[in-house]
Amino acid sequence: MATQRTFSIIKPDATRRNLTGAINAKIEEAGLRIVGQKRIHMTKAQAEAFYAVHAERPFYNDLVSFMISGPVVVQVLEGENAVAAYRQVMGATNPADADEGTIRKAFAESIEANSVHGSDSDENAGIEINHFFTEDEIVG
Ligand code: ADP
Ligand code: MG
Repeated sequence: MATQRTFSIIKPDATRRNLTGAINAKIEEAGLRIVGQKRIHMTKAQAEAFYAVHAERPFYNDLVSFMISGPVVVQVLEGENAVAAYRQVMGATNPADADEGTIRKAFAESIEANSVHGSDSDENAGIEINHFFTEDEIVG
């Protein structure tokens, strides 16, 4: 698998606890390179659009409120097989199911406040990156 990009968000539960550096260390230890990064406070409209795929799920409104409850760090990660590699470092959605050594096992507070987002496919990675970054903000 060739070099690939994926999109990451360090979520408000993690920025609130000052865990940006600790999470970035796990990302870099996994061989992924942070080639774009910025700290933003998402608007409600941005969070709603980002999670539109979950609009029918019972947790959607809570999830949107959580994602705008504090700053987030949006990132572009690059590396071999980056989409799958980052999903592996993130760990399972529910931290109770996450493997030892993963970000969610180490840091997540709950299935909702689970510290990080990562794209689930190459196609979605492209869409999500374009949502938050211009090409000149990504420096490999
Ligand atoms: P992932 O982030 O692992 O790709 P999903 O795409 O299924 O997981 O869900 C998106 C986000 O919605 C999760 O990361 C989590 O913050 C939240 N979420 C998922 N399932 C639940 C749930 N059952 N209750 C509350 N929040 C949830
Ligand atoms: Mg997902």
